[in-house]
Amino acid sequence: MSEPTPTELVIRVLGCAVSARELAAPPGRVAGGAVIGEVVRAGAEAAELAGATVLVPPWLACFECDLCRRGRGVVCPRGGELGIDRDGGFAAEVVVPARPVLPLSGALALGERAAWPLAALARHGALAYATYARLGVGPGDTVVVRGLGGVGLLLCEILLSKGVGVIAVDDDAAARARAPAQIKRAVSCEDELPAAELGALARVVDTTGSPAGIAAALAMLPVAGTLALVDPGRAGAALIDVGALAARDQTVFGVAGCHPDLYPELVALALRGDLALEALTCAVPRAEAPALLEALRAGRVPAPIPILV
Ligand SMILES: [Zn+2]
Repeated sequence: MSEPTPTELVIRVLGCAVSARELAAPPGRVAGGAVIGEVVRAGAEAAELAGATVLVPPWLACFECDLCRRGRGVVCPRGGELGIDRDGGFAAEVVVPARPVLPLSGALALGERAAWPLAALARHGALAYATYARLGVGPGDTVVVRGLGGVGLLLCEILLSKGVGVIAVDDDAAARARAPAQIKRAVSCEDELPAAELGALARVVDTTGSPAGIAAALAMLPVAGTLALVDPGRAGAALIDVGALAARDQTVFGVAGCHPDLYPELVALALRGDLALEALTCAVPRAEAPALLEALRAGRVPAPIPILV
């Protein structure tokens, strides 16, 4: 039985959302970075969290360094990632630092709602919300969302809840069919998007993280446009011609994770019913984790966001 240090929690895993990131777990490591669970043992300095239902972000910042103090804890040099740098949530229990976890209590209490679908917020929803926050958009703006996997679909829903128009781009007709009905339209990658439709300061988001997806997003970016690359790893590095970006007055930024302070807003949106988590998720028994990872490698998953329970 794992025992927590004074600043750690032992969490009984109620749900662990699965994404391609899980494939990066080193050999011998328990994968799984996106967890919702119940605190079964709490270290002395986190005793108030005993018994709480908590959401665990994958990105574990130190909260002390200059980057953390400037809100950029996702790239904290002393931080790490759950399921990559320490054992994650593909297990009955997981030990995590107490500081980044969000207790789902008070205004964020789940009530009668099942906990496991909210695991979709820990990584997929958090990346989508961090992208929304970095874009600086509001009512009347339009954003092009490329890629309608779990992150892309949640981003569509977050933008719609904020009054932002959405044009979704995905070559897969089944993915386009899952897009929320309130978006302006869902198109395939070949469809030309008239510049007027994007507004004077076009904003494009790539959620595919693939070299082909990033190249296509760059190709469609008008002058003075902004491109957000969500969780791209190094996929876009060789594709981006910095000189061409500068000459066209364009901006590219990456979203590698989400600041812990954004999680309460995200959970509040979900509890208000603005995010269709039940439609995006499906529960998969933990014993089927190896088969699920195989399916993920082959690009076949049972739902945009499968969740181990
Ligand atoms: Zn730090």
